[in-house]
Amino acid sequence: MYSANIKFNGIDNTNQYEELIKIFLQPSEYEIIRDEAEAEYEYVFNGDKDEVKRQLYGDLSRLTGKSPKWGILTGIRPVKLAGELFKEHGDLAAVREILENHYLLNKEKSNLVTDILQYQIDELGRPATNSLGVYIGIPFCPTRCLYCSFTSNQVKESEYERYLVTLLDEIRYAGKAAADDGYVIESIYMGGGTPTTLSADQLDRLLTCVEESFDMSAVKEYTVEGGRPDTITTDKLEVLKKHNVERISINPQTMKDETLELIGRRHSVQQVREAFEMANEVGIKTINADLIAGLPEEDLDDFKNSLNEIIRLGASNITVHTLAVKRASRLKEFDENFNYKQEELREQMLKYARETLLAEGFKPYYLYRQKHTSGNTENIGYCKPGTISTYNVRIMEEAQSILALGAGGLSKIYFPEENRLERVPNVSNYEIYIDRIDEMIERKNKGFFGVHNTGGK
Ligand code: SF4
Repeated sequence: MYSANIKFNGIDNTNQYEELIKIFLQPSEYEIIRDEAEAEYEYVFNGDKDEVKRQLYGDLSRLTGKSPKWGILTGIRPVKLAGELFKEHGDLAAVREILENHYLLNKEKSNLVTDILQYQIDELGRPATNSLGVYIGIPFCPTRCLYCSFTSNQVKESEYERYLVTLLDEIRYAGKAAADDGYVIESIYMGGGTPTTLSADQLDRLLTCVEESFDMSAVKEYTVEGGRPDTITTDKLEVLKKHNVERISINPQTMKDETLELIGRRHSVQQVREAFEMANEVGIKTINADLIAGLPEEDLDDFKNSLNEIIRLGASNITVHTLAVKRASRLKEFDENFNYKQEELREQMLKYARETLLAEGFKPYYLYRQKHTSGNTENIGYCKPGTISTYNVRIMEEAQSILALGAGGLSKIYFPEENRLERVPNVSNYEIYIDRIDEMIERKNKGFFGVHNTGGK
């Protein structure tokens, strides 16, 4: 248990510094001094935020004996930062040098980040200025997971229909407006929630509407999340196949029944196996499986078993998450200090995942960190050769406009000259979305379409 008084002179908003402090200390172990009183650790802002962070990192390393591997980086997109440095310096060795000396990353992390960047450049290059990613949200799941902080509602089936009818209107409008602006669709991603909560017939109508509304000729990747195995049936998979969806996700999170019960997933390990079998039989090309390292009451062997089994089942994308306890999730109520416990165990799980997946021919292809991730670790997507997910890379890279439809959709319009995004949100409550669909469309009309005329109008 530590106790540190910390004061920042000349800095009013201390949030980003506190993010760094929290990597070393629990909230009960430090206090930010905001009055005239003297503090044990004082920092003077001289115009260089990173210099203050390096001083803080040095002091807290000496105090706690910890040397966090991500250095002073608290942002969620280290590969994006590396991409920007690469653009400036044109050389990955120079990028590594800056990551290690300026941002204090250790060698393992700087190599990981630059390896991923190199792989992304080799496989996908940079997005064309008129290219577009399309996201479509289905905000329903059969039950709510303990750790969930997404838009996910548990409602009666008649609500699905009400929502779908509204969503189809937004898709038709957006398809026409995207064509008028000359956008070329690079990828489509249907997430949520769990899209496969809809019936086979509803999915068929939804995917038909997408095809009729958007020019699909340049689409490189079409994903539909089927995250919850208990929502997957052969009928639904056949609908996806018929509409050329080549990538789905079936997310076990763990292959231990007791944990599934504990985290409120309400499906069984057997249902995961059956979902994989059905998807393989129907012939879906790429199956992503999400796993979580550090679930409550799991040990290293539990994690190893889960990973090994999903490799055996044939997942060609595997995303290894570290449990993030966010403010909205019920797990936070469950155990306030969950993030700080078992740091070492999570590290061991991630190391095992990395070594095993590399040995099985997977490559790390995207990475992001979450603010509330336990143990200051990261989430990594691995893929078998030829199955890199365009949408996942683009969303992290933030160099392409994303058109997001449905409740909770956050559209982002990209301005390449300034390397900047502007956000155009839909409301996240699905009932308000239905009631105010005209306003959602108007928001896009004003803030998204017509902003860049990429040659179509
Ligand atoms: S499946 Fe995903 S979106 Fe649905 S409740 Fe669980 S975590 Fe939330």
